[in-house]
Amino acid sequence: MLKNKLPGKGTTIFTVMSRMAQDHGAINLAQGFPDFDGPQELRERVTYHVNRGHNQYAPLAGVPELCGQIAVKVSDLYGRDIDPEFELAVTPGATEAIFCAITAVVNPGDEVIVFDPAYDTYEPGVTLNGGVTRHIALRYPNFSIDWQKVRETITDRTRLIILNTPHNPSGAVLREEDIQQLREVIAGRDIHLVSDEVYEHITFDGKPHLSLLRYPDLAAKSFVVTSFGKTYHVTGWRIGYCIAPRALMKEFFRIQQFINFSTNTPLQYALADFMAACPQHHLELGGFYQQKRDLFCHLLAQSRFKLIPPAGTFFQLADYSAISDDPDSEFISRLTREFKVAAIPVSAFYESPPDQRVIRFCFAKDDDTLRDAAKKLVNL
Ligand code: GLN
Repeated sequence: MLKNKLPGKGTTIFTVMSRMAQDHGAINLAQGFPDFDGPQELRERVTYHVNRGHNQYAPLAGVPELCGQIAVKVSDLYGRDIDPEFELAVTPGATEAIFCAITAVVNPGDEVIVFDPAYDTYEPGVTLNGGVTRHIALRYPNFSIDWQKVRETITDRTRLIILNTPHNPSGAVLREEDIQQLREVIAGRDIHLVSDEVYEHITFDGKPHLSLLRYPDLAAKSFVVTSFGKTYHVTGWRIGYCIAPRALMKEFFRIQQFINFSTNTPLQYALADFMAACPQHHLELGGFYQQKRDLFCHLLAQSRFKLIPPAGTFFQLADYSAISDDPDSEFISRLTREFKVAAIPVSAFYESPPDQRVIRFCFAKDDDTLRDAAKKLVNL
């Protein structure tokens, strides 16, 4: 018998809900992925590079053409000049980058702070490295960080704080005052940061994305992780990247080389070409998803769901307490089986789920899919 290294962790809620949606013929607003394709020019560049012989191992850090494009983007957007050879790693998805970053920092007995509702990949990374995860609940319903609680939770063993902005599942974003508080709580301590920014280009109503890369003092202690999947509507490609100062990346690379060795070559070339040819794509993404958010909210206005407005991401939280007193997992099961719409129970993101009736919908869908789903949801 093998010993379970992740006690209490079953199959991820995203896998469970996508399967349930399929089994019951439900519209899948659960797992976060678009039901439309990435740009045709981008897809065509993949074929081009496969046929042009770009099919062997890429360098560990990524193909130089893509690393160069990323460096230009990071400089333009966040005013940070990185050395694309030593301060950047292209990875097979943000999930792998987050795992390598956690592994680079955490040793047995170290404590790591995460904010609940927390994306489900953080705690297992900490546990597998022998660390201890300390959960702090975000304030409801605006999902802001209670910095006093952070101060009370930090101990001499705290080595890492994991941030996520724009935040999955709530859509909340860090504000300047959070940045200032973050500075103060880690000042003089040996604490590093992992900042999960995979929704960096999806913010609404003019809200800026405060990447930790904007702040030299914080960037000096941070692994900033992001993803191409969300930006180019290609979540199945599994390509992300991590940026950190050279000394941190040295440890990251040491680990990464033994996990994946390197990342898919032709996809990297295709992304590099597309970034050069269509540098405006990511600048238009916030507007693109804001329209979808607004359409979805408009369609649900006549429903009994109470919507909690997201400042970013492609997720919409909805309070269903006017519809049912059932716990969210039961409610979701009925929603999927009887009403044929799948969503995610927000309790899945908590260590100790609060007494709330809240579920998460993904609105990264064609407008017609959103209309079809809303027709069903207004009947509840
Ligand atoms: N990030 C996606 C979500 O939150 C899921 C990714 C996955 O299934 N691993 O829905």
